[in-house]
Amino acid sequence: MAFIHNGSMIPLPGYPLSESRILNPRHVSPLIDGFGRLHNNLRISVTDRCNIRCFYCMPATDVVFMNRSLLLTFEEIERFVRIVAPLGVNKLRLTGGEPLVRHELPVLVRMLAAVPGIEDIGITTNGILLADQAQALWDAGLRRINVSLDALNAEKFEEITRRPGYEKVLEGIKAAQAVGFDPVKVNAVSVRGMTESEIVPFGHFARETGVEIRFIEYMPLDADNAWERDKVLFASEIIETLSRELMPLVAVGERNPHAPATDFVFADGVGRIGFIPSVSQPFCAQCNRFRITADGKIRNCLFSLEETDIRGLLRGGAPDSEIVAAVRASVSAKWAGHHINHPDFVQPDRPMYSIGG
Ligand code: SF4
Repeated sequence: MAFIHNGSMIPLPGYPLSESRILNPRHVSPLIDGFGRLHNNLRISVTDRCNIRCFYCMPATDVVFMNRSLLLTFEEIERFVRIVAPLGVNKLRLTGGEPLVRHELPVLVRMLAAVPGIEDIGITTNGILLADQAQALWDAGLRRINVSLDALNAEKFEEITRRPGYEKVLEGIKAAQAVGFDPVKVNAVSVRGMTESEIVPFGHFARETGVEIRFIEYMPLDADNAWERDKVLFASEIIETLSRELMPLVAVGERNPHAPATDFVFADGVGRIGFIPSVSQPFCAQCNRFRITADGKIRNCLFSLEETDIRGLLRGGAPDSEIVAAVRASVSAKWAGHHINHPDFVQPDRPMYSIGG
């Protein structure tokens, strides 16, 4: 990959020229941090509200959600995306809380799909409202769906989410497949002492439904600050269990260095399983992501301890150039990676549900 600067093509370190795509034909230098990482992937949290209470994310009770007036409007989100798209941002993921509780979300998808330069829009949802919205999201231009589901039985589901809804999630997955989302991916957080029983059922589920399973290592982003390292069920252990109980897993082709997941397929070619080993094998060296929270704060890393206020600029009449400068400053100040494995690790004040996945 390269970009044009002062008329000459500048190859980007770590990006094969074979990806022969000229960034920014309008000669705007892309978002590159101090470690040479290109940022083209923006995660947009559209709300902090959610209709379930996963223990590794939200408090069980007394959740205080942000007042609606604090949330970016669709027009503000669209303006922000129009400002960062010329900087090379071409991939968007909508997150929450639970994004589907945000009223009229397909309207926002359609607005963002119309922004020049945006090539790909995905969503991470808990799937409970998906059956009702799958068609409208597809028609609006959404093309990728990850459904968060950590168990394949209602009892364990409710133990983790502290709410009912298991059957609705399965209906949502079927509806998404029916309208054309392919593959539908399932994100399954793996917690020691809680989800070992789900590993083999998810292996069968992947083989029987064509849904791709992503096992995600449990991360310290919970509202109760109760995360413990020995509760992390490591990707290597899950691979060992699936290979022993079902059949060996084979790594899938050339890995996309910027994708968080490492993908495998069962030896007979049926069933695809991915792993997001954020704790045991961090992938920060190839990170291409930054985030904007529902209340308009830029976070250059999921675990960053600092934020940059964009909502104030958007509502204060700031010109686009000032917003570009704020985004650039945030990205260029990005650290090498999370500090989960460092003795000095500090969990961010903001819990997962108000950051977005
Ligand atoms: S932890 Fe931060 S730096 Fe690492 S991959 Fe995630 S967002 Fe990127």
